[in-house]
Amino acid sequence: MDEKPKAPLPHLVFFPLPFQGPVNSMFKLAELFCLEGFGVTFVVTECIHRRLVTSSNIQFLRHSYPSFHLMALTDGLPNDHPRNGDRFIEVFNSLKINTMPLLKDLLISGSFWQPVTCIVADGLMGFAFDVAKETGIPIFYVRTIGPCTLWTFFCLPHLLDSGELPPLDTTNINADDMDRPVRGVPGTESFLRRRDLPRFSTLGDTAYESLQLLMKEGEEVPKAHGLILNTFEELDGPLLSLLRATCPNTYAIGPLHAHVKNKRSKQTVTESKCSSSSNLWPEDRSCLGWLDQQASKSVMYVSFGSIAIFSREKLMELWYGLVNSGVQFLWVIRPDSIIGENWEKHIPAELLEGTKQRGFIVGWAPQEEVIGHPAVGGFLTHSGWNSTLESIYAGVPMLCWPYFLDQQLNSRFVSEAWKVGLDMKDTCDRSIVEEMVRDLMDVRKEEFSRRAEELSELARNCLIEGGSSSSNFQRLIMDIRQGGS
Ligand code: UDP
Repeated sequence: MDEKPKAPLPHLVFFPLPFQGPVNSMFKLAELFCLEGFGVTFVVTECIHRRLVTSSNIQFLRHSYPSFHLMALTDGLPNDHPRNGDRFIEVFNSLKINTMPLLKDLLISGSFWQPVTCIVADGLMGFAFDVAKETGIPIFYVRTIGPCTLWTFFCLPHLLDSGELPPLDTTNINADDMDRPVRGVPGTESFLRRRDLPRFSTLGDTAYESLQLLMKEGEEVPKAHGLILNTFEELDGPLLSLLRATCPNTYAIGPLHAHVKNKRSKQTVTESKCSSSSNLWPEDRSCLGWLDQQASKSVMYVSFGSIAIFSREKLMELWYGLVNSGVQFLWVIRPDSIIGENWEKHIPAELLEGTKQRGFIVGWAPQEEVIGHPAVGGFLTHSGWNSTLESIYAGVPMLCWPYFLDQQLNSRFVSEAWKVGLDMKDTCDRSIVEEMVRDLMDVRKEEFSRRAEELSELARNCLIEGGSSSSNFQRLIMDIRQGGS
């Protein structure tokens, strides 16, 4: 008897923004689809490709999922272009002018290994919609920031008109002005202040253009078939309802890092030995051995993500604050995170002594494992969205010291909306650091731990069968299979 020809795999073409954070989050999403039997072509710029091909995460994906393909296209920028966050607008414009037409040609000529079912692109790239329209292929956008930031971006035109957005030049703004409540972001009126809004002034020359780009997002994102977000209903329900008024097909399927791990464990895919992110720096796992020797919930984990940099003065205030608090701490100081050279050579002896007694410093940690370690009782964080979700999932209260943009909002939500920590924004004084570390780890420990455990349970439950993120993901799969209806 003739065998029936197999139906082709549904095949998704991923197009992330070529920066570490978005690429990492999109990898997790891509793996979720691979675990459901989808084919994935993950399109990156040549520069990101060079970095990725040697990463153990890519090797793991290729090895575990034969239907996962990595593809590189040029971004059209010169080889020596730094392609960092400071030059975001140049990278963005070049993607639009140089990379997108190449992707369009490939889609039109049907040159992929399999017909394309859907495009999954970063929501900032509104120009991807035009390609989707021209090729007749449905498109879903993904935003790797939190809904609180996305919703605020949607409200930017109004915030700008009403003068509530901190001006692009903040040199003459006074502290009282920054404490004024913000009315222009519905759903947050009871707690949002001007100082909690993203400060475009930190973007220097590109502030105005970046603002324009983000304002456009509110018009572009709703055009897509759907919007995929890394959060869960129980955490961000009110904001998701507001977003759904303009983007009805919004799928909250996070926390992605845990969603992937859960799904892997149900199938025969062996857990990767590397963390689920593609690291820029080698992980120092010796800190796990140090944590094993510490008492339950006694350690403050300190890390400011992959981008934040700060001055030696701030480093000293933080360091004194930590040592003087008397709390045990595990601190990630990335090799490139302190401004100026040879800063390690001029550390006061008393700090080194205090650190020897109570601290452990590494250049890069296996963060998901660290946060999940029973010895960790608090997280001093820059409030990056991934770190925030990882901490919520693990049930670890946070002390937030946001660095820029969305982190200003995330930290306020941690302290005022979810009440799972404290927000130290705009201060960096050793006595305040000391006091707030003690508040989190000692004085208010019970209160924060209880709340963190409640949220952690919600985060875990949303991923089990029938839970909100698990069901939303099944709905997304169905919608994609039905052609993005
Ligand atoms: N991370 C890590 N080891 C470290 C510090 C950070 O693995 O020592 C990971 C962390 O688990 C998170 C990501 O790096 O997934 C940081 O992302 P986030 O959105 O928090 O901040 P960003 O780096 O984008 O500022």
